Amino acid sequence: MQFRNYMEDVVKQVFEEYLQRDPSFCRCERCRRDTIVMTLNQLRGKYVGSPEGEIRAAVSTADRQAKADAMLALLSAVEKVKAHPHHPSPPAQEEW
Ligand SMILES: [Zn+2]
Repeated sequence: MQFRNYMEDVVKQVFEEYLQRDPSFCRCERCRRDTIVMTLNQLRGKYVGSPEGEIRAAVSTADRQAKADAMLALLSAVEKVKAHPHHPSPPAQEEW
């Protein structure tokens, strides 16, 4: 059995787009993971149970509403991570 929350892919895609527009956002694993997890927790999951190819198709045709919701939740997560990073800011690049 295979199923998956395709909002996960939508959020990752929206986050990538966001990162390109905001070079000041911390790129470390931890901040990125926190942001994605926080974003997903604000969103209702949209589950698809189908083979890999169909999941990708579902993501590429994800309605505008799903993307808009993901972006909104992402922006609020980004604000929280920026305000309270789990490490001293700015982080020493070598540690990450
Ligand atoms: Zn960081």
